[in-house]
Amino acid sequence: MASTRPEVIADTTNRFESDIAPYLNPHTEDDCFEAILKCLNADATVPARRYTVFSEILENNKIGQFLAMTFLYAINRSNKLMESKHVTGDFPLLDEVGNECSICRKNLTKKVKGVAVRQYEIVEIFPSNLDDDTAVDFENAPAPPVKLDSSANQIALCRTHAEVYQAGPEVEE
Ligand SMILES: [Zn+2]
Repeated sequence: MASTRPEVIADTTNRFESDIAPYLNPHTEDDCFEAILKCLNADATVPARRYTVFSEILENNKIGQFLAMTFLYAINRSNKLMESKHVTGDFPLLDEVGNECSICRKNLTKKVKGVAVRQYEIVEIFPSNLDDDTAVDFENAPAPPVKLDSSANQIALCRTHAEVYQAGPEVEE
């Protein structure tokens, strides 16, 4: 609920203006803004008035404000789990676990009209974003690979267990 406080809104806007907007690729930034607007426009649950407000901010070339306001809007809406086709690059990770969640054995893909859709998320086995307390626990874990973002440190889990593990990773798990 912090995002409803005026000072948080102001801080978020300032941050997008100072730390994000200056670093966008000037050649493709408009493609990105357009994609955000299209996404809002395609969602029937987004009120037309909201869409107009956002597109007017963009029209006025207030990039930081546009990104901040769409960002704050997004985090105030409930998540929609969109089923999407799985990524070919994930095949080795799916193969490694026999296409099953290692925790609950649920299938990680399912066929919809002949197309395999993903039921999984790729998770870091040794989390790269541990807070100090959890980092202490993980000192006793098997040594992580040198590169935490390499596939050696990734595993495909069902969405539920991916979410649970990412929210509170435990060494034993
Ligand atoms: Zn699972």
